[in-house]
Amino acid sequence: MVNYKELGLVNTRDMFAKAVKGGYAIPAFNFNTMEQMQAIVQAAVETKSPVIMQVSKGARNYANGTILRNLAKGAVEYAKELGCENPEIVLHLDHGDSFEICKECIDNGFSSVMIDGSHLPYEENVALTKKVVDYAHQFDVTVEAELGVLAGVEDEVSAAESHYTKPEEVIDFATRTGCDSLAISIGTSHGAHKFTPEQCTLVNGVLVPPPLAFDILAEIEEKLPGFPIVLHGSSSVPQEEVETINKYGGALKAAIGIPEDQLRQASKSAVCKINIDSDSRLAMTAAIRKHLAENPSHFDPRQYLKPARDNMKKMYIHKIVNVLGSDNKLG
Ligand SMILES: [Zn+2]
Repeated sequence: MVNYKELGLVNTRDMFAKAVKGGYAIPAFNFNTMEQMQAIVQAAVETKSPVIMQVSKGARNYANGTILRNLAKGAVEYAKELGCENPEIVLHLDHGDSFEICKECIDNGFSSVMIDGSHLPYEENVALTKKVVDYAHQFDVTVEAELGVLAGVEDEVSAAESHYTKPEEVIDFATRTGCDSLAISIGTSHGAHKFTPEQCTLVNGVLVPPPLAFDILAEIEEKLPGFPIVLHGSSSVPQEEVETINKYGGALKAAIGIPEDQLRQASKSAVCKINIDSDSRLAMTAAIRKHLAENPSHFDPRQYLKPARDNMKKMYIHKIVNVLGSDNKLG
């Protein structure tokens, strides 16, 4: 057993309460590599932002859960070394799909877990979520649950169609499960190809996707005042990164994300955690492709991973300051 408190990590409870009150959202960045971890910590320290570092099942398969937990422990110490006295870093399991995987993470230093029973019939989702909450709360670990289904593909999570969260279910679900936050479906989706061009409208030469369902968000807020809401699949898929990737040999077609002004608007509501994964992948790949194309003789991974790390850091800082508004919110 390793409790997250021994690692210097924090759970999401106070962080979310402050974010809902303050009208901003906490960034939840997925990570699989040391370079992503370093970029996340550097960005969080420089902007004085709390941050959630999250690990998917795919990340655990790729990098090993023990290594990722130790990277998160290293992240806390690294933040202190960079001059942040009391960093607020959460290590969160993204899309846990069974009680067992949640328990394993809780027993091994995670401060927050998601149990995703959104694909199950309602009553089964309630039962599974409650089982995880009952276990997690013994160790002061916070639990995110999900109601409604997001479309898209990301790691091992995929769904062809989205189903918006039904506002009439949220009170019953939150009360009976005791979950600490709720991921909802209001039009965001997983991956870098969130919308087809046919779903978008052409405005000044730019494809603009359909707006998020802010009416559903407002209804949910009305039913659960002040309750922390989470948005998954909220990368904006910066077109300059997509263009760089394609310019230097990539072949990304019609990669379309969520416009940042929509996320800015959501951050000001009860939405207090916004998940961003694809944007980091795009920033990393764009920088690596550009570097290798311009420096064909380079073969030391440090030569191309350094610009990749710098490019991710720039993106993380932009999200924190200009989209989520979580800068200067430590303490
Ligand atoms: Zn997700």
